Amino acid sequence: MDCIFCKIIKKEIPASILYEDEKILIFNDLNPEAPKHFLVIPKEHIASVNELNACNSDVISHIFTKINEVSQNIKELENGYRIVTNCGENASQTVKHLHFHVLGGRKLSWPPG
Ligand code: AMP
Ligand code: ZN
Repeated sequence: MDCIFCKIIKKEIPASILYEDEKILIFNDLNPEAPKHFLVIPKEHIASVNELNACNSDVISHIFTKINEVSQNIKELENGYRIVTNCGENASQTVKHLHFHVLGGRKLSWPPG
């Protein structure tokens, strides 16, 4: 499957990895939109939230637990951060492998564009 995030998981292309275990990978976004911007992905290829179901969604609680742990160790995130997942065309999802953006280190505007 021609998925760039699966290639990062298999170490076929490089990434700046912040955390890894058997279920998930956390790495810096190549084109950061904030002083801190990293991505959290399940190692299982799930295309988007639209493909989540009772059999594959346990990883989501693991992802959020690790976002909490990793964020607590990043000083720039102590005043808050935003977790975003884009799902589908109208949300401008470009990589069809489920990922959670974690953005922080500056005041983030709301609502998003
Ligand atoms: P989305 O638009 O929600 O699908 O976001 C995809 C994100 O993946 C964008 O923020 C890209 O900058 C990021 N991205 C794409 N390729 C890479 C890569 N090789 N390493 C790190 N981040 C990437
Ligand atoms: Zn993938």
